[in-house]
Amino acid sequence: MNCKAVILLPDGMADEPLPELGGKTPLEFAPTPGMDSIAARGASGTFLTLPEGLPTSSDVANMSVLGFRPELNYPGRGPIECAGQGIELGPDDVAFRCNLVYASEDGVLRDYSAGHIDEKESRLLMEDLEKNFGSAEATFHAGVSYRNLLVLHGRRFSPAVRYFKPDSSADMPLAELQSSPSDDSPEAAATVAFLHDLEERCAAFLSAHPLNRGKSAPANRIWPWSPGRKPVIPPFSELYQGRTGAVITAVDVIKGIAKCTGMDVIEVPGATGFVDTNYKGKLEAALGALEDHDLVYLHVEAVDECSHIGDLELKLRAIADFDREIVSPLLEALAGRNDVNVAVLPDHPVPLRLRKHTTTPVPLAIRGPAVPVPDGIDVFSEIRAKEGTLGFLRAGQLVRKILGLEG
Ligand SMILES: [Zn+2]
Repeated sequence: MNCKAVILLPDGMADEPLPELGGKTPLEFAPTPGMDSIAARGASGTFLTLPEGLPTSSDVANMSVLGFRPELNYPGRGPIECAGQGIELGPDDVAFRCNLVYASEDGVLRDYSAGHIDEKESRLLMEDLEKNFGSAEATFHAGVSYRNLLVLHGRRFSPAVRYFKPDSSADMPLAELQSSPSDDSPEAAATVAFLHDLEERCAAFLSAHPLNRGKSAPANRIWPWSPGRKPVIPPFSELYQGRTGAVITAVDVIKGIAKCTGMDVIEVPGATGFVDTNYKGKLEAALGALEDHDLVYLHVEAVDECSHIGDLELKLRAIADFDREIVSPLLEALAGRNDVNVAVLPDHPVPLRLRKHTTTPVPLAIRGPAVPVPDGIDVFSEIRAKEGTLGFLRAGQLVRKILGLEG
């Protein structure tokens, strides 16, 4: 049976039972009647989004959820975000995601986001970096807040760079976080040497920058990571028998996956990637996109950010906001329709205890025509989902199931 589908994706929501919540996980503790009703009226299961041997990052996880097989097709986060921003890469370009970060004077990485730097300020800093250090070999590109890009141009560069993920490296000494060549080629060695020199020159410039004066978490370093070349990923419509997809998100990395795979990106004014995002606008955009697309992918970044910050209260609030502002009204708007499957799942866990992504399979719940018989699991929970009748899914299975392409 052909049907339409919505995937609701609260980034980084899954967690672990916490003693301060009486042994419940934040998802189990926060009020989530919307997500619970998806589980209660449908079925639960688990999904492996981060296959072994790949970075444990959101781009890999979201590629898995959409069925794009990152183990075969993962290009690196730099090139995906370039696609998200409409930056065309040449055949000899190597693109890096480039955070603006804060390192303290004692040489320790303190904040992967430079205090979630304001977008206007980060843009000014990136423009100044481009003016002062941009060249035929390196260009700086402003993104959203701390999420910026650096592109190296020329055959002497290579993406074979081993790097540390800044949001997984809090409070570690910079000396232990140096990037290094990941193969024996002269290009890899040249790339690492070029980066180290550029990072130090940028650090000196940023530390003295007037915009950073008086800040508790000044953006005083650049952090290039997850490099790669121009991506080649099979298009969504090719994977799914001509069906169409739309993506709604605040963050360039998810827009990039969409643009690399021929999915439409629906822009929503005021979508910020944090707890102040425009939930109402995103919900309206999702319902609108469902009119002329088969699959709508609604991604909300806020929960992930609260988890990386390690703020339990804020994480609980972000989960409750997502449920109240997105899930419940969406279910209400679709109440009369029996041709739409609704799936909810996070892309990966970010346990507050660790403040970084883990590869534990995530909980998943689906309701709609793909699940004619409820499985009796009446809450959406990391623990209970393991007992659900959907069982254990891998990349590719979810979208086929909810678009009715199985069997
Ligand atoms: Zn994520």
